[in-house]
Amino acid sequence: MADTQAALPVAADRCTGCGACANGCPKGAIHMTADSEGFLTPVVGEGCIQCGHCAHVCPALKHREERSAPAVFAAWAEDDSLRRRSTNGGVFAALATQVLEDGGVVFGAAMDAHLTVRHVAVKNTADLPPLLGAKPVQSDVGDSFQQVRMYLDQGRRVLFVGTPCQVDGLYRFLGGYPENLLTCDFLCGGVASPGVWQRLVKSMAYVKQKPPVAVEFSRKEPEGTGHRFFVTFAGGKTYDAPLAKTEFGRGLKRRLFLRRACHTCPYACANRPGDLTLGTFRGLPKELDEQKQGVTMLLINSVKGAHTVDTLALKKTARTLDEAVADNVALRQPREPSPYREAFFAALRQAPFQQVRIKYLAAGEPRDVPTPQALLRTVKEKLWKKR
Ligand SMILES: Cc1cc2nc3c(=O)[nH]c(=O)nc-3n(C[C@H](O)[C@H](O)[C@H](O)COP(=O)(O)OP(=O)(O)OC[C@H]3O[C@@H](n4cnc5c(N)ncnc54)[C@H](O)[C@@H]3O)c2cc1C
Repeated sequence: MADTQAALPVAADRCTGCGACANGCPKGAIHMTADSEGFLTPVVGEGCIQCGHCAHVCPALKHREERSAPAVFAAWAEDDSLRRRSTNGGVFAALATQVLEDGGVVFGAAMDAHLTVRHVAVKNTADLPPLLGAKPVQSDVGDSFQQVRMYLDQGRRVLFVGTPCQVDGLYRFLGGYPENLLTCDFLCGGVASPGVWQRLVKSMAYVKQKPPVAVEFSRKEPEGTGHRFFVTFAGGKTYDAPLAKTEFGRGLKRRLFLRRACHTCPYACANRPGDLTLGTFRGLPKELDEQKQGVTMLLINSVKGAHTVDTLALKKTARTLDEAVADNVALRQPREPSPYREAFFAALRQAPFQQVRIKYLAAGEPRDVPTPQALLRTVKEKLWKKR
């Protein structure tokens, strides 16, 4: 048996879990395995011949070249139905539709039957809807990078959408910039732990006594006034609330359970790995009333990206990079972790999840959950005082 952790090419706190090493290992000796915080992390197992290919493809170990400054647009899909079903302006949906109608393959993140977020390949527009919309949980890329190479080898056009670390990982895995590959990263404030998400899924099932079967993290209100967290349970019952008022949303906002490497993310800047970058444009002037329905911040980072955007069914208006950077922290710097992050994960390992939820994910500051004995004591004291 090979020395497992010692053979990893990158320190655990810098590993983004992009999966380039596992996809690229010529011996299939690297497996993405959930770590103690619930994030997929490479583990080197039997069969490792210490060839160093994993270090060669690891984006965290490579210096990124500085690209010229991106062109910036506020953009939205001409097709209102695509826009309605997307997080922002539906630029991804317009892009994916064009690639699919052209006979290409689109890779993006969807939720499986267990509500695990995974990268999947889609080959026709009828299968596109599960890819639409942001899922704040880190997606499992599985063997997507190998599939991308297979489709490129077949001469097909491929669109890959993912976090900047996944896009960079894909390029490292491929060892170049194939002509038929178009990539799109998004502005990313960090990805949530899939392990924590699954605990919340179980907790929702327990509370409703029915398993959740579908989740939308940012369902658009019909009037375009905000985003909702919308869950459908088996049997048809639903839960619907603003994301920020849910346990998952509070944990996200507090940066309690983002991947450790997200807090030192080298992609939180305007030098992006994808041909295109998508994000939220919030600070647009009032006269751009269109933003009510969602506007995507579109950065064009390469000549290929520029040519593609010219052919898309989009409405767009040019903005400045200064404006984009001022508007969106994800273009300036990584986010600090919550001061409670370590305590949260320590509690997750030791305490029942119900206690962790009440302490860290309820409204207000984290507070200790009284034990049943302490609760009984308090009740007795109150009754005693009343006598
Ligand atoms: C984890 C995460 C964090 C984000 N953080 C920010 C932020 O801090 N600031 C900001 O401006 N925007 C952020 N976004 C991006 C934003 O929410 C929109 O996804 C983006 O603006 C594109 O909007 P759209 O309407 O064009 O496309 P959408 O309909 O949102 O399509 C987005 C695409 O991203 C893919 N995708 C969704 N979830 C994941 C995932 N977990 N992993 C990989 N790929 C995924 C989908 O498959 C789809 O291809 C984040 C998105 C995610 C998923």
